[in-house]
Amino acid sequence: MQPIEERLELVRFKVDKRPHIRVHTEACRDCDLTPCVYVCPAGLFEILGGEMHFSYEHCLECGTCYVACERKAIEWDYPRGGWGVSFRAS
Ligand code: SF4
Ligand code: SF4
Repeated sequence: MQPIEERLELVRFKVDKRPHIRVHTEACRDCDLTPCVYVCPAGLFEILGGEMHFSYEHCLECGTCYVACERKAIEWDYPRGGWGVSFRAS
């Protein structure tokens, strides 16, 4: 089986200017376990200098972060039609 890093390189994105995920980062400041950082397969959540940084551009649309965030700090939706993950080579 291919390693996950190699598989992720096969994913193509069509990035919408309008984010389909928003993180209310004020809730992140005292979130001790920060599960989103560990569960996102694309590594899109990062704590830098004590602040949450999130980028939606290479989101795999799996929904895991939304389920993992018990504080409900994540507003989640699929990208608009025609945007997001657009092509998967095998
Ligand atoms: S799990 Fe939720 S509250 Fe905690 S750091 Fe991630 S987005 Fe913020
Ligand atoms: S939906 Fe999946 S890939 Fe996208 S930000 Fe959440 S955990 Fe990461």
